[in-house]
Amino acid sequence: MPSGLALLRDPALNHGTGFTEAERDQYSLRGLLPPRVLTQDEQAQRVLTHLRKLTDPLEKFVALNSLHDRNESLYFRVLCEHIDEIMPLVYTPTVGQACQKFGQIFQRPRGLFISANDRGKIRQLLQNWPYRAGIIVVTDGERILGLGDLGANGMGISVGKLALYTACAGVHPQLCLPVTLDVGCNNVEMLQDPFYVGLRQPRLTGAAYDGLLDEFISAATERFPGVVVQFEDFANHNAFRLLAKYRDQLCTFNDDIQGTAAVALAGIFSALRITHGSITQQKMLFLGAGEAAAGIADLVVTAMKSEGLTQAQARQRCWMVDSRGLVVKGRAGLAEHKLPYAHEHAPVGDLLAAIQALKPTAIIGVAAVSGAFTREVLEAMARNHERPIVFALSNPTSQAECTAEEAYRWTQGRVLFASGSPFDPVNHGGKTYIPRQGNNCYIFPGVGLGAIASRARRITDEMFMDAAHTLALLVTQQDLDQGSLYPALPRVREISARIAAAVAETAYRRGLAGKPKPADVPADVRAQMFDPHY
Ligand code: NAD
Repeated sequence: MPSGLALLRDPALNHGTGFTEAERDQYSLRGLLPPRVLTQDEQAQRVLTHLRKLTDPLEKFVALNSLHDRNESLYFRVLCEHIDEIMPLVYTPTVGQACQKFGQIFQRPRGLFISANDRGKIRQLLQNWPYRAGIIVVTDGERILGLGDLGANGMGISVGKLALYTACAGVHPQLCLPVTLDVGCNNVEMLQDPFYVGLRQPRLTGAAYDGLLDEFISAATERFPGVVVQFEDFANHNAFRLLAKYRDQLCTFNDDIQGTAAVALAGIFSALRITHGSITQQKMLFLGAGEAAAGIADLVVTAMKSEGLTQAQARQRCWMVDSRGLVVKGRAGLAEHKLPYAHEHAPVGDLLAAIQALKPTAIIGVAAVSGAFTREVLEAMARNHERPIVFALSNPTSQAECTAEEAYRWTQGRVLFASGSPFDPVNHGGKTYIPRQGNNCYIFPGVGLGAIASRARRITDEMFMDAAHTLALLVTQQDLDQGSLYPALPRVREISARIAAAVAETAYRRGLAGKPKPADVPADVRAQMFDPHY
């Protein structure tokens, strides 16, 4: 245990003015701190008071980031206890802006940058990380939220996401390793930014890219045996194939594909509790045919199959519209992940026409096309179904397909709505609706915690199905009555603990766990959760 200034400068150990009189004696802190001892409660109040005086979300992001760099426990205490208020500042939507301006607001490095120039030296480079990583969030920055290629600035996403693993599921901060693979950047705006933090060169492709990824994965699993590797914000052309390549080799998942799938499916299960419908009767139309759409569709198909449909019947109930219109069989050049959902149909040019032709029970917006759920689209959904399901999942808020207000207004309050970014409550027809975010943070932290707690060797689709069911079960009748398809965010630690236990149970049952099954799995999971109080 360091003492004196070294202790105050170690964010993992520093309690700042919260060090007690006895600790000040024990660790040679006398004179290095103002005399008055504050409780952690008082410190948290001070942080919040300052934060609430700032008006610009990016300034708040910077203030929180510097707290993270000074006093980790206090940062997580504030984040955990005010998650509704703070999460949008440390993650989406603010993190999008923070990544765009990453170079300008850069304070202190966090995580590992591995660049194209490090080829052949990654094993050595990983030795520079002083802790035993239990979970890595890795991005190559090519598709940050709905904002495109932000190159090495994508580090903001890996850092933010891991902060959520700790805040939402109590994964110990020291187990968390953010990684950015700087393989270059094809975004001219980034490359011309004088403060851009990455290599100013075009992205690696082909064998050079794959070689760097392979070297990173084998070095990381060697240096940190059993580590969970979560792929984050990779572009389509790499995300699907990297998941397919590595999922049977190590404990890995892609949150954009699998986490999104589980959270969306949980929202659909909640909507069905309101309509008393069955998943097998749904017809889903996705706007977008990328990672989120394919992930959700695949998990919906699994859910439909578990309720009696064949794979072919289930797939026939999922349709996609991409930038070229309805995805139909026979269209030239379809990417592999779209093929299962390319059905026999005449070409249809746009979303509205597709809704008129197919009469879907649900539309799921995951194309990052702002405003795509127009008044006409929403009215068409309301004409076709008494309780249309509309999920506007694109992030950040600027990319949302519609606002919550628009969704309720153009369906006369009948919509079953969820969004990717937060929206305020909506008053319509004398009733207040509380739309909630179909936020992946309900899922991935619990899945990660469950994998770490059971030392899982793999993360399977069954675990994501468990996570979706567990989340849906935790939605109360009161939530549903006010139009909320997800539980309140402040319950997220409880939710994550339940999901982690379900994931761990599956790991033990399927022989995928790296340790003997404890007598009480939920208690074993809870015992591993980081508590930010001091
Ligand atoms: P992606 O790049 O893999 O897919 C985007 C898809 O949209 C592509 O198939 C593209 O062809 C399609 N598209 C582009 N322009 C279009 C247009 N004009 N009309 C129809 N389709 C068009 O990205 P993704 O990972 O699937 O994410 C998409 C969006 O969903 C992002 O904004 C992301 O932030 C959001 N998202 C939200 C959540 C959540 O809220 N829980 C989870 C994951 C992703």
